[in-house]
Amino acid sequence: MRIARFSTGGDPAFGIVELAADGGKYPDTVSTLTGDPISMPVQLTGERHELDVARLLAPVIPRSKVVGVGRNYAAHAAEMGHEAPASPLLFFKPNTSVIGPEEPIIYPDPVSELAYEGELALVIGRICRDIPAERVDEVIFGYTVANDVTARDLQRTDDQWARAKGYDTFCPLGPWITTHQSVEEMGDVMITTTVDGQQRQHDSSSLMLHGIVELVVYISAFTTLLPGDVILTGTPAGVGELLPGHEVSVTVDGIGTLTNTVIRK
Ligand code: ZN
Repeated sequence: MRIARFSTGGDPAFGIVELAADGGKYPDTVSTLTGDPISMPVQLTGERHELDVARLLAPVIPRSKVVGVGRNYAAHAAEMGHEAPASPLLFFKPNTSVIGPEEPIIYPDPVSELAYEGELALVIGRICRDIPAERVDEVIFGYTVANDVTARDLQRTDDQWARAKGYDTFCPLGPWITTHQSVEEMGDVMITTTVDGQQRQHDSSSLMLHGIVELVVYISAFTTLLPGDVILTGTPAGVGELLPGHEVSVTVDGIGTLTNTVIRK
């Protein structure tokens, strides 16, 4: 199932996306749900919209946190001139950095080098702490696509990455959350990033140094995860610069494509 958050002009709502490509007899549609399926039982309202007329929003606004993982692909750590860390290297992005598909990434004035990082993201579905490996699948609500936008210059000059990773608009998520895949399936999907149509990243999630199960075990060993919290699993090799006017798209096979344009305010 694909769960989107959308607006047709009024308040945001959650809905189930059905794509004509799946053999449906309708055009791409979104069927409205009675509430937020991440945190409550929901039903269909009976209302259905064509996807074209719905504006997709970030599929989740993390209630408490977005956890990022640095240098989780060996080739990416190497291109940044670092050793791959023995344990996951974690950081937080504030929930106020989250934006949805087609929303602009704002190039901040004090920044001189902005970068894209295409990533597979997972969305937590339960309050959980100290999750053992065999229960990780149970606490994941689903998967989405992320762009871990980073101010590379500030990342080099600030000891902590709060500014480099945390500016408003630095966490595009979307286009929706998929709920039907297992941890094993998501452990081998292609992640592709394009800038103005040129392919820049194209690697499998199987190249993660610390896989999805290990990340959830490691993170939940130090912090309570809440429904709607998001974990970004790290970026493959091929990171590079974003400039105002660039259109950046991240595709994760089996989920979809997240596209945003960079603007200077
Ligand atoms: Zn990243």
